[in-house]
Amino acid sequence: MDKMRARHTPSADPHKPAGVEWHVVHDDKAVALCGVNVEGGSERPIADWATVTDPRCRHCGDAYSNEA
Ligand SMILES: [Zn+2]
Repeated sequence: MDKMRARHTPSADPHKPAGVEWHVVHDDKAVALCGVNVEGGSERPIADWATVTDPRCRHCGDAYSNEA
């Protein structure tokens, strides 16, 4: 079962909060489909992938839609 997991990305601008980027993981793997380690990131059901408003990883999106 796939799920979404967040990776917190440091902001380039110190006056802005760190960003969040969503990745796709299989089961409880620590590494996303794109190869990024997202261990410990917050999770959401994969069904939210289409509607989430935060930035999404393009590689994970491609890999996920190829699977679906
Ligand atoms: Zn990714």
